[in-house]
Amino acid sequence: MKKEEIIFRYSKVFPKAARVTYAPIVGVKAKNAKVWDIEGREYIDFLSDAAVQNVGHNNERVVRAIKEQADELIHFTFIYGYTVEPLLLAEKLVKISPIENSKVVLGLSGSDANDGAIKFARAYTKRRTILSYLGSYYGATYGAMSITGLDFETRALVGELSDVHYIPYPDCYRCPFGQEKGKCHLKCISYLEYKFEKEVYADGVAALFAEPIQGDAGMIVPPDDYFKKLKKILDEHGILLVVDEVQSGLGRTGKWFAIEHFGVVPDIITLAKPLGGGLPISAIIGKEEIMESLPPLGHTFTLSGSPVVSRAALAVIEEIEEKNLLKRAEKLGDYTMKRLKKMQEEHELIGDVRGKGLMIGVDLVKDRETKERAFDEAKKVVWRAYELGLVLAFLHGNVLRIQPPLTIEKELLDEGLDRLEQAIADVEEGKVDDKVLKIVQGW
Ligand code: PMP
Repeated sequence: MKKEEIIFRYSKVFPKAARVTYAPIVGVKAKNAKVWDIEGREYIDFLSDAAVQNVGHNNERVVRAIKEQADELIHFTFIYGYTVEPLLLAEKLVKISPIENSKVVLGLSGSDANDGAIKFARAYTKRRTILSYLGSYYGATYGAMSITGLDFETRALVGELSDVHYIPYPDCYRCPFGQEKGKCHLKCISYLEYKFEKEVYADGVAALFAEPIQGDAGMIVPPDDYFKKLKKILDEHGILLVVDEVQSGLGRTGKWFAIEHFGVVPDIITLAKPLGGGLPISAIIGKEEIMESLPPLGHTFTLSGSPVVSRAALAVIEEIEEKNLLKRAEKLGDYTMKRLKKMQEEHELIGDVRGKGLMIGVDLVKDRETKERAFDEAKKVVWRAYELGLVLAFLHGNVLRIQPPLTIEKELLDEGLDRLEQAIADVEEGKVDDKVLKIVQGW
C-alpha cells in the first residue's frame, strides 16, 4: 500500500475525535530512537512515541519478554484467577514508589488510571470535590476528561462530572498573576487559599490532581518549593495529593517519579504510557488504606494485569535499573538543555527552554516581550523537521516537545538537535511554505 492511500483510508474509517495529525509518517519499523516509514525513510524519534518508549522502541529485553510470555500464557483473567507476572509487577511498583505501604491497581491507559484515582480519593475521604489545574491533561474517559483543564469543547457537548474546580498551574514563563520568576512569593499558592475563602469548601475537597511537570500544557516546570508549600495546605484540610506521572514517570525526568524532584510524597500516583513499552497498561499506586476504600470489583477491567503486558512492564523497569537510565536521562537532559539554550541565543523564535531530564519544551514566540505564541511557526518547524527526518510535535500549539528515548545514542541526539536547529532556522528565514499549515493540525 502507498502512503497516500493509507492516509486517505484512515480519514474514511477513523473519526477526527480519535486522531490528531502532525506529519504524514506511516511507521513500519522502529529500533531505539529510530523509526522507518513505509517508503523506507529513516527518522530520529524526538517524541518517544508520545513519551511511551522510555527504554527505546522495540527494546530487546521487552521484545524477548513479550515473545516468551506469549508462548506460555497470554491471558488468564486477573479478576477470577491468579498469575505470577502481575504479582511480580505490582511488587516491583510498590518497591520503586515513594509511597510507603502502598497497594496497586492495574489498568489499561492513563485515562482509566486517573478515573480510578478519582474514585479511590472520593471513596476514602467520603468527599466529592476534586481540585485540578487549568492546562492539565488527565485523559479521555469521562472522569479523566472532567478533571482535565484543556478541551472544554468536548465536555460542553457531552456533559461532565460535577464538583470539579480549577486553579492556575505555577507557570513561571507566562505567570497568570503577572509575576516575575524568583520574585513572586508564590501567588499561585495564596490563590488557592483565596479560592478556599471565596468559592470552594476546603474540608469538602477529596483530592488535588497534579502533574508534577505539566506535559500537554507545554512542559511547565513548577518552582522547586511549590509542591512542599502546597502539600502543607492540603494536609491542613485532609486533602489527598494525586500525582499523575503518566507522562513524567519511569525515568523520564531523571527520577523514577518526577514528584521526587520536589521533595513531597503524594497519596496516590498514576502511571501508564511508558510502563508497557508500547503495550496498554496503567497502574494506580496508593496508600493501602486509600486503595482498600472501594468494594470488590470497584475498579477493575477484564484485560488488566495480563501476563504478557505485565512481563513487558517488568522488562521496562529492569531495563531502567540495569542500564542506569535515571542517571542517563539526567545527563542527556542537562546536555540537551544546554544545547537548546545556546540555540535560544541565536534564534529569536525561541522564547523559553524548560524541562527536567528528557522532558523538555521549547516555547516558540512571535515576540519575546509579549510572549505571543508562534502557532504557525510551530507547525512549520514540525513540518520542516519531518522533511529533515526528525519526528517532532508541539503542545499547546506552540511548544516543541523534546522527549527522546532515555536510551538515545549521544550521536543521534546531536544529529536530531542539529536537524531541529536547521528546521527553526529555515522557518525563521521563510523557507517553509504556508500550505503546510493546512496539513499539520496538532493541538
Ligand atoms: N495523563 C497525562 C499527564 C498524559 O500526558 C496523558 C496522555 N497524554 C494521559 C494522562 C492519558 O493517558 P492515555 O492516553 O494513556 O489515556
